[in-house]
Amino acid sequence: MQDKIQMKTPLVEMDGDEMTRIIWKMIKDILLTPYVDLKTEYYDLGLENRDATNDQVTIDSAEATKKYGVAVKCATITPNAARVKEYNLKQMWKSPNGTIRAILDGTVFRAPIVVDSIKPSVSTWKKPIVIARHAYGDIYRDVEMKIPGKGTVELVYTAADGTQMKETVHHFDGEGIVLGMHNVSASIESFARACFNYALDQKQDLWFSTKDTISKKYDHTFKDIFQEIYDAEYAEKFKEAGIEYFYTLIDDAVARVIRSEGGFIWACKNYDGDVMSDMVATAFGSLAMMTSVLVSPEGYYEYEAAHGTVQRHYYRHLKGEKTSTNSMATLFAWTGALRKRAELDHLPELAAFSDRLEKAALMTIEEGVLTGDLANLSSLEQKQVVNTEEFLLAVRDRLERLMK
Ligand code: NAP
Ligand code: MG
Repeated sequence: MQDKIQMKTPLVEMDGDEMTRIIWKMIKDILLTPYVDLKTEYYDLGLENRDATNDQVTIDSAEATKKYGVAVKCATITPNAARVKEYNLKQMWKSPNGTIRAILDGTVFRAPIVVDSIKPSVSTWKKPIVIARHAYGDIYRDVEMKIPGKGTVELVYTAADGTQMKETVHHFDGEGIVLGMHNVSASIESFARACFNYALDQKQDLWFSTKDTISKKYDHTFKDIFQEIYDAEYAEKFKEAGIEYFYTLIDDAVARVIRSEGGFIWACKNYDGDVMSDMVATAFGSLAMMTSVLVSPEGYYEYEAAHGTVQRHYYRHLKGEKTSTNSMATLFAWTGALRKRAELDHLPELAAFSDRLEKAALMTIEEGVLTGDLANLSSLEQKQVVNTEEFLLAVRDRLERLMK
């Protein structure tokens, strides 16, 4: 056995719940600790420990991410009423992702893991399309009213000194509906910087789209803020990196995305990102083949899987049955975090290990060794559907081959 690969700075390790917690340990035992002298600062975000610490552990893990810069997170339960009962919780704790995002103030980037034998539904797509979704405001923080009958709706802004601005929304002749929504420049600015930084990091073009021709103040402000920040802070860097920033209308963007080969980042306003990320994920295959990373404007990174805790598989696992759960997204959260750590700490061996481990995992699927969820998606004729652990062992075989 060779010496293990050394790390300098610990990763912030956020453990989680149910089937993904089982997978988490398997990945570490089978694919990481035999090869890497894994340095982590461990936070147990499993629901029992969140309850025991009154959710302090979630806050501590986010603060640790600010201290060290890179975190890797397992999927976690966001409790609802059923979970409060199931786990006998003190209260219905908030979504850990929500808590962490509020502390780190980030943008979420989601990218499909592309495999040759799993063909995207869109035949022109050759490379992944990354969706960067703004996660604040618009209809997610709106106020709405049902208008019962004849009358006038106005928008009124009252400044701190009492002066007012007024606009008439509509003179209603009968029943109708109205909504008011907002965003704040500081959030749009941090969204823009997160996107520009991520594009530089990935060396990929950045597209951004809104409906500024119709929404001449609201959407136009998004367009203007992106352009101002690009011109002042990023134009030079993009030129050096050989990448482009490209703005277009959302409907034009949709048409271009479908005709494209992929291989770029598509920044979307909150609602557009919600809709388009599900379209892109579905067209590329499956949520279990999707990576997700939260990038803060200060350059902190938190890697995770895009899917949840795979509850149904976990209950089968508890009954002693073998499950065939896809560990790709969780594995790629680890390799993404290790590679980022390697880059920040100048550890070429660790970076090479992350690359090889991803390659081994992709080879496994390309050679027809798959978990159940991919069986119908793969175009291969020879397929061997394996259980959760067998898949990871098959990855290890290929990793060993690549390391020789
Ligand atoms: P889910 O865990 O993503 O699973 C939904 C279904 O998708 C599964 O039942 C399974 O289908 C399939 N699936 C998802 N990931 C898979 C994988 N890796 N391999 C194979 N199949 C996979 O979503 P959910 O059941 O709605 O949520 C379960 C828990 O996860 C909830 O408590 C929720 O709060 C939490 N959640 C956490 C996060 C996060 O931490 N980022 C995100 C979403 C949800 P089949 O059962 O048909 O095989
Ligand atoms: Mg959605």
